[in-house]
Amino acid sequence: MNITALKGVNDILPREIAKWDYLESCAKKVFSIYGYRQIKIPVIGESRLFVRSIGEQTDIVEKEMYTFTDRGQRKIALRPEATASVVRAYLEHKLEGQDLARLFYSGPMFRGEKPQSGRNRQFYQIGVEALGCEHPQLDAEVIILALEFLNKLGLKKFSLNLNTVGCTNDKDNFAKTLKTYLKGKLDQLCPNCQNRYKRNVLRTLDCKVKSCQKVIQSAPNMIDAVCPGCSCHFDRVKSTLDSLSVCYNIMPHLVRGLDYYTKTVFEITHADLGAQNAICAGGRYDNLIKELGGTKTGAIGFAFGTERTILAAEAENIDFPKEEGASVYIIGLGQASDEKVFELAQTLRKNQISCYLNYNTSRALKKQLRQADKLKHRFVLILGEDELKSNCILLKDMDKGTQESIEIKNVVSELKNKLNK
Ligand code: ATP
Ligand code: MG
Repeated sequence: MNITALKGVNDILPREIAKWDYLESCAKKVFSIYGYRQIKIPVIGESRLFVRSIGEQTDIVEKEMYTFTDRGQRKIALRPEATASVVRAYLEHKLEGQDLARLFYSGPMFRGEKPQSGRNRQFYQIGVEALGCEHPQLDAEVIILALEFLNKLGLKKFSLNLNTVGCTNDKDNFAKTLKTYLKGKLDQLCPNCQNRYKRNVLRTLDCKVKSCQKVIQSAPNMIDAVCPGCSCHFDRVKSTLDSLSVCYNIMPHLVRGLDYYTKTVFEITHADLGAQNAICAGGRYDNLIKELGGTKTGAIGFAFGTERTILAAEAENIDFPKEEGASVYIIGLGQASDEKVFELAQTLRKNQISCYLNYNTSRALKKQLRQADKLKHRFVLILGEDELKSNCILLKDMDKGTQESIEIKNVVSELKNKLNK
């Protein structure tokens, strides 16, 4: 039997974990300074939650969602994103008394897309949602928060793209305007966009196919079509960002692939990534809370793709913390050392010194040393027959390449000293 991981569903191996932890810890530090609190939402939820919020005619719901019927005949989906679930939790638990709640999350999402670099079927997101407020300054806060996270990581080659899609009314009106513009040009659009034209015309603006982009280039702009209220909101967002000297590009054709977005939408792209260059996407969703049963109030959020952000950080040669092996690798030579090395490992662990022991006392010393080097252990303790007789042990410093014989009873204090514990 040869079972491998599913296509587009990756293992994150121990050697990669330091990077993932670093991303999460940077996010947590920045988000908590801005008053955001962590929430963990379930990986599965009722399908209709996602269908209702993301939109029936979106790529995610139509083509990408993993759904199944459980034993109670309930229609369940693996979450394709987190916003809908966070809103559900906010309403269900009356978070912050349903006043402004600042929340963040991180975890896996699932979409049945074609796997490629930067596009997986199980991928991770780190995101933020601020729920219960329509103030344009909140938009600026959330956007700045996303940028601050990247600053904290030490990234430089990213850019912020910004647009407004207006309110539901504006979106409906603009969809008509866009349809009129595209009507005579349908034959120049890709089959996907011909379909989008009928079902979700705004998405054509997002198409990456060259022939479509050519048509879209001269399409009317959303910014020119939004109502005075939405236009004023957007002006305030921009002026707040300006007042803090935040750089952004206005992208009049930027739309998001989910139906719930209204007013401000944004994405952050990275210069060193290929086709999948968006590391973060977000926007306002002022109707979603009401649609899911709450009172009408605004909200805004964003999500970073964790894998893509790591790719971007690697491309910029960010100084990630190094993976650390256990501090000490213990080698026992010959069966007689069995008990002593086991006992020693326990003593070290009790003294908060991490160690690795492989129980194989017949393995050649050379091989074990190579292994210790590969797994980046700082020290090696070797207990052979001679040492056993004299109650001593060899302590090898792998960084310095030195070794000394010390009395077993002094091992803990010696190591603590060397490890500055
Ligand atoms: P894209 O246009 O790349 O498909 P999207 O509009 O579907 O992105 P969102 O749903 O807004 O993306 O998700 C926010 C971020 O999550 C994206 O900017 C990206 O970094 C990441 N992301 C989305 N889908 C995937 C995926 N299948 N694999 C890896 N990362 C993803
Ligand atoms: Mg997508």
